Amino acid sequence: MFSRKDTRPVKVGNLIIGGSNDVIIQSMCTTKTADVDATVAEILRLEEAGCQMVRVTVNNEEAAAAIKEIKKQIHIPLVADIHFDYRLALAAIENGIDKVRINPGNIGRRSKVEEVVKACKARGIPIRIGVNAGSLENHLLEKYGYPTPDAMVESALFHIGILEELDFHDIIVSLKASDVPMAIEAYRKAAEVIPYPLHLGITEAGTLFSGTIKSSAGIGALLSLGIGNTLRISLSADPVEEIKVAREILKSFGLISDAPTLISCPTCGRLDIDLFSIANEVEEYISKLKVPIKVSVLGCAVNGPGEAREADIGIAGARGEGMLFRYGEIVRKVPEADLVSELKKEIDHIVEVYEAT
Ligand code: SF4
Repeated sequence: MFSRKDTRPVKVGNLIIGGSNDVIIQSMCTTKTADVDATVAEILRLEEAGCQMVRVTVNNEEAAAAIKEIKKQIHIPLVADIHFDYRLALAAIENGIDKVRINPGNIGRRSKVEEVVKACKARGIPIRIGVNAGSLENHLLEKYGYPTPDAMVESALFHIGILEELDFHDIIVSLKASDVPMAIEAYRKAAEVIPYPLHLGITEAGTLFSGTIKSSAGIGALLSLGIGNTLRISLSADPVEEIKVAREILKSFGLISDAPTLISCPTCGRLDIDLFSIANEVEEYISKLKVPIKVSVLGCAVNGPGEAREADIGIAGARGEGMLFRYGEIVRKVPEADLVSELKKEIDHIVEVYEAT
């Protein structure tokens, strides 16, 4: 077991990643960064879903220039994703970016690296080193023959070494691979030797369905080992879906304190109600809540309420009527037609009480 709390805390805007802080959820915009309106609109949707930090590509001068205006209209730290061009890094820093993702070993001449580091130091901006199995340095591919977890860790240490030589320590590191066992092994090995916060991700994980499963397998394994201070789920989907998946994964490990949980049964031959659509409706209803409420939706009252003892509130179906229950105890019977609306009222009440205390 590792302890994510042993990592160095690194400040990013108004957040701190690493140390004893919560695991931070982030995503990346799909818009052209230079299109300020579209980018801000996407970031605001991400914020509403629970995104705590967002990255934008800074691939040209227009994108770097847009940062200033985007920053004015959003409420979470903004990260610039930069490849190679140190001038774009400097422009992003000048325009108020909160963090830069750039690999110092790819910047080029030492003087250019020094300039970026100096600008970051002056404004207290951290750098994320993003190692990717698909783009390892040639000297490592020559040494290892092909991408391996050891090669990935060596790449991270190579870039870290450049920053440390310049007495720069506000570093966050990712070691992404789309191969799940490779990513797990790379992060596990990195956690042994790297004192900086680790940003978890299974890169190019796939579509909403397959990417969710792949990310859950990889990131879940790492979180269960105590590894990971921030994470991004990479999906070929609306980035809001990435946030929903990230919240569910963190919830599974008790690493998020403001997320609702739905408990629902798989159904069986005892079922007399349309449980799947009820469960989906309730899940949608509670998805935007920032309250750690547990809601249970069960097909019948035979085993259900007892099996969902930890639920704050729940329903169990039956022919013509259903049960409303709390912590496994039946509260009252409700006509089947009113089951969901009564459940929603109870949820609203619990949320009101929670928010008032
Ligand atoms: Fe079957 Fe009832 Fe259990 Fe659902 S709660 S799986 S309907 S026994």
